[in-house]
Amino acid sequence: MNKPVLAADTVAIGLGANLGDARQTLSWAVKAIAQLPQTQLQAVSSLYGSKPIDSSGPDYLNAVALVTTQLAPLDLLHALQAIELAAGRERPYRNAPRTLDLDIELWGELQSDATELTLPHPRMLERAFVLLPLAEIAPQCVGADQLQAVREQGIELSQGSGWWQ
Ligand code: AMP
Repeated sequence: MNKPVLAADTVAIGLGANLGDARQTLSWAVKAIAQLPQTQLQAVSSLYGSKPIDSSGPDYLNAVALVTTQLAPLDLLHALQAIELAAGRERPYRNAPRTLDLDIELWGELQSDATELTLPHPRMLERAFVLLPLAEIAPQCVGADQLQAVREQGIELSQGSGWWQ
């Protein structure tokens, strides 16, 4: 990332779902994130619809949430994985369709190449379904050139920012 950006306690979480009632699952997930200990929900993007990339099945719904947290990075990751599991996520094979996918896209300006938690998320710059919602709630994190690079990807606004309430 070449843009300066988030405060050290601020985390951008990408949410995606393409099975079952995806909007309902994502709305439930935002509320579950808001209830995590030592974590405050700051903003939620609009809801977007996107075609599966590196995956299969029905179209995805996606959004990005911004939180502040005092949790350690791996503790937040594990808490998000517990939310995925609670939503009934199974991993029958790599990149299978999923009821709920939660990724940590950015954590302040942390950089990590650890396999368990790579920061920034290694594929965020390739994904319009991350960059567009992120640009909405944290415009300083996304460059015009980065948005331009993914503009061909099919992604459309599904619902405005109050969708999860
Ligand atoms: P996925 O199946 O796409 O949700 O990938 C989950 C795996 O990616 C887990 O084993 C995580 O430990 C790992 N991972 C690495 N970096 C990240 C990240 N920034 N956010 C979420 N999961 C990550």
